[in-house]
Amino acid sequence: MRPARQRLCFFAAAFGLLLGSAAAAAPIAFVGATVLDGTGAPPLVDATVVIDGDRIVAVGPAATVAVPAGATRFDVRGKWLLPGLIDSHMHFFQSGGAFARPDVIDLRAIRPYTDEVAAVRAAIPATLARTLASGITTVVDVGGPLWTFGVRDLAARTPAAPRVAVSGPLLTPYLPPEVAVADPPMIQIATPDQARAEVRRLAAQRPDLIKIWFVRAGPDLSPQVAWIRAVIDEAHTAGLRVAVHATELRLARAAVEAGADALVHGVDDLVVDAPFLFQLLAQGVVYTPTFAVVEGYARALGLTFRPTSMEDRAGDPAAIESILQLTQLRIRPRGVFPAPVPPIDPESAANLRRLRDAGVRIAAGSDAGNIGTLHGPGLHRELELMVQAGLTPMEAIVAATRNGALLLRNEDIGVIAPGKVADLLLLDADPLADIRNTTQIWRVVRAGVVYDPAALLAGMR
Ligand SMILES: [Zn+2]
Repeated sequence: MRPARQRLCFFAAAFGLLLGSAAAAAPIAFVGATVLDGTGAPPLVDATVVIDGDRIVAVGPAATVAVPAGATRFDVRGKWLLPGLIDSHMHFFQSGGAFARPDVIDLRAIRPYTDEVAAVRAAIPATLARTLASGITTVVDVGGPLWTFGVRDLAARTPAAPRVAVSGPLLTPYLPPEVAVADPPMIQIATPDQARAEVRRLAAQRPDLIKIWFVRAGPDLSPQVAWIRAVIDEAHTAGLRVAVHATELRLARAAVEAGADALVHGVDDLVVDAPFLFQLLAQGVVYTPTFAVVEGYARALGLTFRPTSMEDRAGDPAAIESILQLTQLRIRPRGVFPAPVPPIDPESAANLRRLRDAGVRIAAGSDAGNIGTLHGPGLHRELELMVQAGLTPMEAIVAATRNGALLLRNEDIGVIAPGKVADLLLLDADPLADIRNTTQIWRVVRAGVVYDPAALLAGMR
């Protein structure tokens, strides 16, 4: 072993984080795992994956893929190796705790919203680490203040962080007064001209996509559709894709007809019809059902939240504590989030199956940061709910890997194949036998560097 690598390993051991580094170091070989490559192809049993630098250089049966001389070898027989997970829908400006959305439940008398935002910003390095420790190597922040562009910059220069894509502020028909602070998470749009100006202003920040919050529509959609068309046209001119929050079929249809590239919530009011399916397919729209957030609000505001073992292990304890305190505060939230039984509404689940059967691209997003949906654990719960809704575990895994990469048009990630970036997740148990086994994380690999999740989380609580 080269001296440079020995030094690296010494420091790594000292900090208890870095288990194998690709930087100026020997290749890494994972030998004997069952590989799920992210494409939905049958599992490759007893496989070897070789990493050199930040890239995967070989994948195949252990009998045929040679381990390079001098490689750091991990014997991973009995483990499952997947691409790192991609959360296609989350928000860094929200903590996941009770104070995250004063426009939903107003607790500002207990904690001013500006204090909440300051705490969220101070906790961003920990949020990045929790996310990576949860096996998530890429996140898509689909709506937040301009300071979230700084989160992307921080993540890019922090080794133990997921890669971060951001949209910047949501373009919306209204700005809830409770969140109208300096650098708000939303920008209110009234006219097509204003829409174009805001997209040009955002484009200067190099967003990874543009986000529209399509809510509060009256019977006549035309005033909103006019500015939504302008947003999408201006964004496409700038080479940017547009994701839309629309939960009613008429709004989702209008958004897609206006040229939307992604729907970041499921349609929950009506059965999706054939013309809508055809249009999703024709435009290659990526559909993210985002079940977890509905359940998260129901658990938190229905006062039934009890942390799961994954939430206990990887979730932000301050966020958890704030939700548990809701009960003690004796604040009865508005009754808009009754605990759903079953946890997914049947119409959303049926629509997801229809979309899957039609061949629509489905991605996985948790909406983490909303009250009751924690950064990191939230995506694992989403995968569980997607399977409850009728996807196979393999389909859920593809949604959280390759299809997330398709949303971002990032051909470097989401799949295990030679030439791809070595963003990987190693599990102690079979996620095809039980999708909840995605929480049984042994190691996470980010750009060729191997991390122990327990070490990433140590000292954070
Ligand atoms: Zn969202």
